Amino acid sequence: MTDVRRAVPRTDAVLADPALAPALDRLGAVTVKDAVRVAQDAVRRGDLDPDGLVPAVLAALPRAPGGMTAVVNATGVVVHTNLGRAPLGSAAIEALTVAAGPTDVEFGLESGARARRGRDTLAVLRAAVPAAGDVHVVNNAAAALVLCATVLAGGGREIVVSRGEMVEIGDGFRLPDLLVSTGAVLREVGTTNRTTVADHAAVIGPQTGFALKVHPSNFVVSGFTAAAPLRELAALPVPVVVDVGSGLLHRDPMLPDEPDVTSALRDGASVVLCSGDKLLGGPQCGLLFGDAAVIERLRRHPLARALRVDKLTLAALQATVVADTTPVREMLAVPVESLRRRARELAAAVGHPDVEAVDTTATVGGGGAPGVDLPSAGVAVPAETIARLRRGDPPVVGRVHEGRGVLDLRTVSPAADAELGAALGRALEDD
Ligand SMILES: *Cc1c(COP(=O)(O)O)cnc(C)c1O
Repeated sequence: MTDVRRAVPRTDAVLADPALAPALDRLGAVTVKDAVRVAQDAVRRGDLDPDGLVPAVLAALPRAPGGMTAVVNATGVVVHTNLGRAPLGSAAIEALTVAAGPTDVEFGLESGARARRGRDTLAVLRAAVPAAGDVHVVNNAAAALVLCATVLAGGGREIVVSRGEMVEIGDGFRLPDLLVSTGAVLREVGTTNRTTVADHAAVIGPQTGFALKVHPSNFVVSGFTAAAPLRELAALPVPVVVDVGSGLLHRDPMLPDEPDVTSALRDGASVVLCSGDKLLGGPQCGLLFGDAAVIERLRRHPLARALRVDKLTLAALQATVVADTTPVREMLAVPVESLRRRARELAAAVGHPDVEAVDTTATVGGGGAPGVDLPSAGVAVPAETIARLRRGDPPVVGRVHEGRGVLDLRTVSPAADAELGAALGRALEDD
């Protein structure tokens, strides 16, 4: 017993090992000490040789600070909510780095006095959507809805909404519950499959705060259906708030059925709201575009302060909006032929009998373009390789389809193909 204890290297001696110095700097002493303690226990149990302690600590440490591990998204789901929705472009990443330090987010360098927070970002958004009188940014689309409900239907006023648009976004997040939590009253009209303007008109009165139109962004209703056209709703004597969900600022020929902010404003919406981290391709945030007087009321409400975004979000959002393209756009636009070629090259580079290039079907995901299939390509791998890839370095997230593992290249940056091939090679070797 005494001999074993003596053989366990002391914590301060281990921490002084030069091999651990970079990890101490990046990850902090608490994280490294935890890993040292686990490795010392393994030595004590006789499961680890004392000489193997430092390498074991290095292997057990997180790859990066911040508690998140960068992954390769080979799922074929472009906006994957569980993988953090839109990946940011290089300009947005650079903007985040600049914004991390002291910045002029709320300060005029000319005047030396306080300036309007995020003014440049708001100007860029106004320029991107000329149909909007003004714009406001909050924490996410859910926050945008809460702000509208609180300001426009506070004090127990009614929000008129179709029964066909009482949607759940995912993970138990139901829009009706969110709206009711503000104290507003939901006035449901129509049926699951059919709602008309007359249904809305029949219940509108002095108690109405606004009519709400929600894009059913993660399901499709087909058959005997009808929805009130926005143009006709907007002719009613109440404000109309439209939740377009996915954040297209303009009509996109690639996604012809997806609603967009500009069209909704042109059709007469008072306020149009959307997410920043879906098809817009930016950081998590909620954008509100609309009538200048209404946006001003939203901005002036005390709740707006609690929903405001931080400087990192403002910086990444602005860089995203002014960029010529985004990773999300690139993934949607890449021709299937180029994916097929990359798939063949990847399969050839791996050179394993169980790996072959295949055609696949990708999706937009993240509450956008439900029912839209994107023709795609990737490699088929043994189903059990998928879990091994997930546990690798870097982790590769694929999917299992009809008993076969699939790595879809539509959601993989071409720059990551070599890394993906190497990870796949290692996962197959582990067999
Ligand atoms: C995704 C989505 C939301 C929620 O957006 P968050 O930015 O995640 O809060 C709300 N409404 C619709 C229609 C959506 O698609």
